[in-house]
Amino acid sequence: MINETMYARGAESSVIREIFSYGLERKAQIGADKVFDYSLGNPSVPAPQAVRASIERSLELPSDQLHGYTPAPGLPEVRTAVAESLNRRFGTAYTMADVFMTVGAAASVSMSLHAVTTPGDEVIVIAPYFPEYAVWIENAQAICVEVLTDQETFQIDADAVAAAITPRTAAVIIDSPNNPTGAVYTRETLDALAEVLRAANETREQPIFLISDEPYREIVYGAEVPWVPSIYEHTIVCYSYSKSLSLPGERVGWVLVPNAMPLAPRVMAAVAGAARALGFVCAPALFQRVVADCVDEPSDVAAYARNRELLCSALTEYGYTYVEPDGAFYLWVKALEDDAEAFCERAKAYELLPVPSNSFGVPGWFRLGYCIDYRVIERSLPAWKQLADEYRV
Ligand code: PLP
Repeated sequence: MINETMYARGAESSVIREIFSYGLERKAQIGADKVFDYSLGNPSVPAPQAVRASIERSLELPSDQLHGYTPAPGLPEVRTAVAESLNRRFGTAYTMADVFMTVGAAASVSMSLHAVTTPGDEVIVIAPYFPEYAVWIENAQAICVEVLTDQETFQIDADAVAAAITPRTAAVIIDSPNNPTGAVYTRETLDALAEVLRAANETREQPIFLISDEPYREIVYGAEVPWVPSIYEHTIVCYSYSKSLSLPGERVGWVLVPNAMPLAPRVMAAVAGAARALGFVCAPALFQRVVADCVDEPSDVAAYARNRELLCSALTEYGYTYVEPDGAFYLWVKALEDDAEAFCERAKAYELLPVPSNSFGVPGWFRLGYCIDYRVIERSLPAWKQLADEYRV
């Protein structure tokens, strides 16, 4: 019998992907240069040259090494390279035993959720939130509990998190630099969250785990991105090279269960078990090797900073209001009418493709992914102006 939940997830697809598909169709109809697709977080910045050099080196390996299975958690030298890079950057003492290589952040977060929840548990997300969290939480048979972010600062509202905690709360997922708002959580914010979680832990057998999803860690415009495990000891870090190295199609990332976490060996075993149960073991061998070679390779933040500057100054001039982004490559903009979906439909008439906020768990906003080519943003500006003018009459 067909599983109706899976059928529904497959048949409906994500709103972001639907808009992306519409954009492809529209480009085929009227020409790629006339459609302004802000839907997907697919970096336009090329992968660093070091990635190509690493691939070329790997191609010299014998076939059984190049294409063979790696150990389930990844190649030892790769996990060691990741641990040592983190140690250099954050003054930690991780080893390869703390790192499990994954097929991107999607797998990292899914595995972590399966590892630390049991059916019926609750997982808190900070709204607006990356829509796939709801799907992954549902797949772990847990319940997604939305807590609205602070509407002034777009930081986590620690009091609201405290109010949402129940005896069934197993985990909180945070994502900083944030998709979709671009907010970077400050040390003060994370301290306040840690205090709330620790207070709740006092009356519980198992601590509340913090799942820190960080695919945008390196993409910041001057803000500090604190290392979350040094603030809250029950933190699992989920990472991916999709954004930092522009490798979203290659599916490679990791889960870190820090050895300083009190339950680390059991949690890491559960993460490994989740990878096995979900069929996520043995991340792509070629790109594991790329990670080992490029672990300290910087992201090309300057390109995104340029796009951000162009888009923000133009939208300000046209009268749009948005959250000033400190990181990632998304702009979270107030829709010019209450119904964000209706606004995004009107935008389509100008070949503008933003994503309405409803699937991120809040009404009245839209998201722009500005990881696209600078020239596309430039060409789209008259359309953004005309759209704003339409609302003024
Ligand atoms: N988490 C967040 C916040 C994201 O924005 C994304 C992708 O856009 C993912 C996870 C999934 O990343 P990956 O492509 O590495 O699976």
